Order: sequence, then structure tokens, then C-alpha cells
Amino acid sequence: MSANGLPKTADFIILGAGVMGASIAFHLARRNVGRIAVLDKDHVGSGGSGRSSALVRMHYSFPPEVQLALVSLKIFQHWREIVGEPGEFRKTGFVRIVHPGESEALKQNVAMQRNLGAKVELINRHQLRELAPDWQVDEVELAAYEPDSGYGDGNVVANDFLNRARDSGTTYLSKTHATNFLIEGGRIRGVQTDHGEIHAPVVIAATGPWTRPLFQSTGYDPPIETEFHQVAILKNAPTMKPGAACIDSVTATYFRSDASDKFLVGDFYGKRPIDPDNFPQRPSDNDLEEIIERAARRLPKLETAEVMRGVTGVYDVTPDSRPLLGPVPGVEGLFLCAGFSGMGFKISPAIGLVMSEQILDGKAKTVDITPFRPSRFQEGQPIKADFEYKDD
Ligand SMILES: Cc1cc2nc3c(=O)[nH]c(=O)nc-3n(C[C@H](O)[C@H](O)[C@H](O)COP(=O)(O)OP(=O)(O)OC[C@H]3O[C@@H](n4cnc5c(N)ncnc54)[C@H](O)[C@@H]3O)c2cc1C
Repeated sequence: MSANGLPKTADFIILGAGVMGASIAFHLARRNVGRIAVLDKDHVGSGGSGRSSALVRMHYSFPPEVQLALVSLKIFQHWREIVGEPGEFRKTGFVRIVHPGESEALKQNVAMQRNLGAKVELINRHQLRELAPDWQVDEVELAAYEPDSGYGDGNVVANDFLNRARDSGTTYLSKTHATNFLIEGGRIRGVQTDHGEIHAPVVIAATGPWTRPLFQSTGYDPPIETEFHQVAILKNAPTMKPGAACIDSVTATYFRSDASDKFLVGDFYGKRPIDPDNFPQRPSDNDLEEIIERAARRLPKLETAEVMRGVTGVYDVTPDSRPLLGPVPGVEGLFLCAGFSGMGFKISPAIGLVMSEQILDGKAKTVDITPFRPSRFQEGQPIKADFEYKDD
């Protein structure tokens, strides 16, 4: 063991203690599979997870993503029974508004989601007005409404999963930076860190926006770009009530209530590339103003709401905006779980489960994650859903 407690060996090394690394540790530990070590160069939740707007919705255009969101929703809803903590999931309902001209795709996607078991319905302008009287919806033809969706908290999810895994014997080391993979004869042997080497036959990288440089020596280049995003937190304007969360293609914003007296507005657009170790910790006043101005076209009362603070963060974006999940080509025993493209929080409970199945059983059975395999771009098979939106 090194001075900081780094063991010399483990059966599984997980790099990254965000919602993904913690969820993988939780699900592996539940199966009592041996010695698990989770290493984070910083601390639990310090990446995108702790900055997440944490919207939870089932609305995706690619069926396996809907399945992952459904499995996750059940875990969020039964957090206390499954994870043993109160949890932080708040059911507010969720509305998806698409561009004019995308109503047909919306209908098709809602039909697909309902077939997979999602509680979602199409609502017209009048129903939307009843549901959200504060919203300006004159141009909306149809929207999708999910009564059971809402939002959670990335710090709570990462900490709860990791604490349960630690209760079952998982070793967690903060401030331990994996600097390189140890590979011999096409097989992973362990990880080089700033506190020495740790050896294991299985290594899982859940390293978010920091993934690409880490893989430099592996011969596999994960196509992940970093993108800077900004979020405004406002104090509710007088008479504003907490309501459904929304992703709105027309204003290119998403928004939700934040506790009972606050409101959160996030942006679709981001700036690439950005250094994940050195980015502005506060949004610029101009950018905040612009985001709020766009969201206020949907929710006019936001014009009089007071801006309390902003949140910034980095997305790890892939060319098809879907994660890279599974074995790394050319390195036996090395697995990748990154590239969530700003959408990972809501599926994190299921991701830990399917990754643990992939690693232990050779294939994920809860949801088939083969379409997300890291080799898909080399194979010329990026994911393309049947009814994608312009801004999917
Ligand atoms: C502003 C913002 C808003 C978002 N809103 C939503 C939303 O509304 N809904 C939703 O579903 N998703 C949302 N997301 C996306 C979601 O939060 C992420 O997809 C998810 O948190 C990714 O988790 P992760 O564990 O993969 O990565 P991270 O949380 O980034 O964790 C990676 C961890 O790996 C560690 N690490 C990296 N490299 C190394 C290394 N070499 N050695 C050791 N440790 C290392 C880091 O320190 C970090 O703790 C949002 C993200 C941001 C930034």
C-alpha cells in the first residue's frame, strides 16, 4: 500500500467518482465480486456530476436510451429501498417542446416511448396552457408530457452510490490521478497514478471530459470533445409557481424549478473546446442575460425574476451525442463509460447496472448496450435514431 492508501492490487479499478463511476461501483459491489478500487483525481462529484442540472426525462429518440432512462427512473423512485438513503428525486412532470415542423417526429417518438412502457402523452396547446398557465404557448401545436419525470441531484447520487459501495468494502481514493494505463500484450494490467501503480485485470474509465488525453497511449482515441455550458439560477418572480420541467427547442433552453423558491434555466448551445481543468467558474453577465431573455419568450415572468447565481460546467460530447459504453478496442480488460454529451445524469443508475453486466457477464442483459460500443465510429456505425430532432 502507498502512503495515501493506494492498494497494490485490486480486482476492479474504476477511474472517476462521478455519477457513472459511483454507479458502476455500487452495482459491482452488490454482486460481491471482489476488491473494487475507485480513484478520483479530485473528489466525488467534482466533475460534471456535481454541476448537473439533473433533469430526469424519458424523452429520447433512440429506443435503448429510453430503456436506460426507464430503468433509472425506477431506481430514482425507489432510492431508499435500493440505495438505503432518502435520495433527492423530485417529481415535477416534464414537457418536451420541439421545433415547428417536428410534430410528426414527436408523435412517432412518443408512440415508441409508450411501447417501451414510458408514461408519456401527447398534449395540445390548450392542454399545455392548463398544465402551465405561466407559459406562453401560442405557437405550440403539440408537446409531449411525462407526469412522473422531474429532477434530481448529481452530488447526492454520486455520494449515495459510492457510500453504499464503500459499506460493502470498496476502496475509495480521492486526489489520486491516473496518469496512464499499464498495458502488456494487448491486456490491461493496471493503472499508473501520481501515488504509484495499482494492478488489476479489469479497469473502467468513467472519466468524463478528461477521457481523451488519458487514452493517448492505448492506440484507441475516444472521439470526445469538451464543451462549455452555462446555467442561470433565479429567484422566483412574485406569483411564479413551481411547475413542470421543460426542454424547449424553440427557445433553445431547458428550465425547471429548483426547490420551491428558485428556478433554473440552461442553454442548448456550448463553446468548444474548453479545458476541463481551467474554465470560467461563473457565467458571463451577457451570456446569462441572453439565456434568460430566450427562456422568457416561453415564460414571460422570468423577465422580472432576480438572478441569484450561475453554474458552469463541461460536457463530454461525442459525434452522435451518445455515450461510449463497453470494451475498448485492442485492450482486453479495459472498459470505457464516457461521452454522455450533457445527458448522463438521468441514465446514471442504469448505466452502472448495464456496465456491471457487460463486465461480469460479457453482455448487458437489462438493456442491450451494443449500439453504444466504443468501436462504432471506426466501424462507420454512429447511432442514428429513426426520428431525430434537429437538436437531438
Ligand atoms: C452544467 C451541466 C448541466 C447538465 N444537465 C444535465 C441534465 O439536466 N440532465 C442530465 O441527464 N444530464 C445533465 N448533465 C450531464 C451529466 O451531469 C453528466 O453526463 C454526468 O454527470 C457525467 O457523469 P460522469 O461520472 O461520466 O462524469 P464526471 O461527473 O465528469 O466525473 C468524472 C470524474 O472522473 C475524474 N477523473 C477524470 N480523469 C481522471 C483521472 N485521470 N484519474 C482519476 N480521476 C479522474 C474527475 O475528477 C471526475 O470526478 C449536465 C452536465 C453539466 C456540466
